[in-house]
Amino acid sequence: MCSSKAAVEQAMPDSAFATLVLDWFDRHGRKHLPWQQQPTPYRVWVSEIMLQQTQVQTVIPYYQRFMQRFPDVQQLADASLDEVLHHWSGLGYYARARNLHSAAQQLRDQFAGQFPQTFETVAGLPGIGRSTAGAILSLACGQRHPILDGNVKRVLARYHAVDGWPGKSDVLKALWRLSDAVTPNERVAHFNQAMMDLGATVCTRGAPDCERCPLQDGCRARAQGDPARYPHAKPRRQLPARQVHMLLLVSEDAAYLEQRPAQGIWGGLWSFPEFDDTDGLCAWCDARGVKPARMETLPAVRHTFSHFHLDITPHCLRLKNPVFSVMEAGRGLWYKLQGSDAVGLAAPVQRLLARLQEPTTRGNKA
Ligand code: SF4
Repeated sequence: MCSSKAAVEQAMPDSAFATLVLDWFDRHGRKHLPWQQQPTPYRVWVSEIMLQQTQVQTVIPYYQRFMQRFPDVQQLADASLDEVLHHWSGLGYYARARNLHSAAQQLRDQFAGQFPQTFETVAGLPGIGRSTAGAILSLACGQRHPILDGNVKRVLARYHAVDGWPGKSDVLKALWRLSDAVTPNERVAHFNQAMMDLGATVCTRGAPDCERCPLQDGCRARAQGDPARYPHAKPRRQLPARQVHMLLLVSEDAAYLEQRPAQGIWGGLWSFPEFDDTDGLCAWCDARGVKPARMETLPAVRHTFSHFHLDITPHCLRLKNPVFSVMEAGRGLWYKLQGSDAVGLAAPVQRLLARLQEPTTRGNKA
């Protein structure tokens, strides 16, 4: 691996790097994204959290709805977690929403709802790491902090031909040193935005467009002829698969959902009752006087997390008469299939709810 020191010595001077990037930003950078308008720390914070793991075009409508409902720290802190998760439904990685809500409550209770402007305090909030703290304080307050999100890592790893997977701590440290070295003292907000834009629109993961890149003359990965080999991929390993069964209990125009425990996958979201096997499912029905006689097994659904596949076998049971006795105190709700309840739903649960409305699954009633 080329160390950051060697890389910086052999590449163009840092100020020249920043000048090229800033010139490119002036001509081609994105300046009309919703969070770039009135970039307060709160607005930048929410956008940075949404943009982790998620593309800009996907984030924009979520961001606009979120800002409409939670325009400031106070309103986010005062909202219920259910409502926050509802506004996050479909974006995935729900720990982001839980951390956002918890951090907003911390800001309300300890900082009178004001966003702090010291790096250590911001970086100490739930769900905010070094790069996000740097992005918030540079983009919203003009403070000089380097950033290192996925896009910036890619540009720097290619420009300096940094070997190794950035998930390894020595590689990550080298990239941080490189990011710090190229970050200018002036126009840092534009520079950091430009680096993110460059990675998102020019130096893309699969097909870097080096001919349009302002860094092409000094880029080592380009000189080597195969820029896409940087940054090195995470060492592959086979993801394990976990099997679960879900009971899709439908009564009239509603399906029975339960809130998942706060910890674990989809923490705090609403989902169908879940079982390791069909014996558990039948026992659950027996205990509540629900007869699973005409249960229909639907095609399985696979949902992939970063560390395992979840294979869901859905079993649909349509009840002739509403059975409200299945609800356990405080845990269950009959969710209207037309989707009016403001609760958080994981993407596969949303898909299964949609499937329940398809004519092919509107089968027999028990
Ligand atoms: S020259 Fe190509 S590989 Fe190098 S930073 Fe630019 S787009 Fe990425």
